[in-house]
Amino acid sequence: MSATWPPHLGKKLDYPEVAVGAIVAGSARRFGDRVAFRHHGSELTYTELWRGACQFANGLVSRGIKPGDRVALRMPNCLPFPVAYYGLLLAGATFVPVNPLMPEPIVAAQLQDAGAVLTVQADDVAEIRAGQSDTPPDVEIDIHRDLAHLAYTGGTTGRSKGVCLPHRNVVVNSLQFACWQSGSVPALDDEGGLILDQISDPAEYRNRVGEGRLINLTPWFHAMGTVGGLSVLVLGGATATLHDRFDPVAYLADAEKYQINYMGGAPALYAALLACPDIHRRDLSTVLNIGSGAAPMPHEMTNALQRLMPNAVIIEGYGLTEVTMGAAASPPFVSGLRKVGTVGVPVFDTEIKLVPVEGGSEAVPVGEPGEVCIRGPQVMVGYHNQPAETAEVLVDGWLHTGDVGVFDEDGFLSIVDRKKDMLIYKGYNVYPRELEELLTAHPDVALAAVVGRKDVEVGERPVAFIVPVKPDVDAEQVMADINAQVVPYKRLREIVVTDQIPISPAGKILKRELRERLA
Ligand code: AMP
Repeated sequence: MSATWPPHLGKKLDYPEVAVGAIVAGSARRFGDRVAFRHHGSELTYTELWRGACQFANGLVSRGIKPGDRVALRMPNCLPFPVAYYGLLLAGATFVPVNPLMPEPIVAAQLQDAGAVLTVQADDVAEIRAGQSDTPPDVEIDIHRDLAHLAYTGGTTGRSKGVCLPHRNVVVNSLQFACWQSGSVPALDDEGGLILDQISDPAEYRNRVGEGRLINLTPWFHAMGTVGGLSVLVLGGATATLHDRFDPVAYLADAEKYQINYMGGAPALYAALLACPDIHRRDLSTVLNIGSGAAPMPHEMTNALQRLMPNAVIIEGYGLTEVTMGAAASPPFVSGLRKVGTVGVPVFDTEIKLVPVEGGSEAVPVGEPGEVCIRGPQVMVGYHNQPAETAEVLVDGWLHTGDVGVFDEDGFLSIVDRKKDMLIYKGYNVYPRELEELLTAHPDVALAAVVGRKDVEVGERPVAFIVPVKPDVDAEQVMADINAQVVPYKRLREIVVTDQIPISPAGKILKRELRERLA
């Protein structure tokens, strides 16, 4: 790898000491009347976003919301969302994201745990803004201590916990990613708004990232939505066409109509797009970036997307709620370096080491699987009111993620699987992802997920759920084809043909549901 690449590797970015609100303040000054978001025929410019957020912030203050109060947003992606999100942060409140599709008892438990004093739905936003001033309220925010996000996640242990993320984390992680692809460094404008400066290749940057046209579907109740899909794009001055529910036909039609150059989402989104015949009919030649995260993108999918959109660079990112959003990504496109099937390299100021899955803190050798541990300024301060759970995952400043990864000799990271999804067959570790890769590369298989069936004699037997390409699939033949490619202990013992594999709104295969189907 070139010694001069990437331009800032090993250097610290100089993060401005500002709260999250500075992102939208700076963007309003730079991008003014440019459309920031478009949804169902309505538009919101950068100036309108800033004014609306200020009005919303003042509306909260006038209702008695104080700095540090928890305010939940319970709405799909829509124009009021960013107004309320930046508004509550400008008021010094903490954002508690709520998945609007989540069952009521789970939502109630989260809101109670978070101590939410207010839950805002889309229809409430106009009323809270009504008649308020459009200059920001005067509130003190301690960016290192005051929480911007209190985000709930199943985390590494499965039980839902609130992840505490101060303003500093959200600004840092947004900049780590905004700067990553653009080769730029952050700076402040005269009034304290954040800007990206010193872009190494401005023309290329404008083409690929900034001023881009994109489709946004990633839910804003997830970090990939708020940090990756909202703040990074607002920083760059993009125009986003919002889709609140996934309809591949409408998605592809808008991609062509608005000549979008950026798509982002989980592999499940791309699987559905690839299965939609319109993908061959629409003109997608304007697409220059395809971002993927939240789950592994199978090699076969990367290749299929690349064939259909040859002008596009596929950028994989890896992260988790506990690191605000992300920790690793494909190298900047200016470097020309790519490795299909990897999640790239650690982003700025981020260290990743792999430790033995069985325990221990010494890094494993290159090429060997180990638990991914992350250290960097985007790592959470801890779980809300869960000191024992926090102590379990945050050890000497390193976050133990529960993911298993491998580094290659060039420092590229591949995520092998999650520790908790690993199966143990006769004492051997079997990583389902390896089998899923082989299955999705099989011509008869559209989508696959592998889980373990408990078995007293052998521990767990690998079972594959597959969505076939055609209904009359010969499952026995598929199983034989896969098993011919693996060592005996990894062999599939059973294939279940299904028409659907359950996937969470954030794009993760719900393996627990599959295990329950087997029980
Ligand atoms: P969440 O906290 O909801 O963002 O989920 C984080 C988890 O998603 C990680 O711990 C990984 O298991 C998984 N994940 C995220 N990005 C990737 C990726 N690019 N490849 C594989 N797994 C991923």
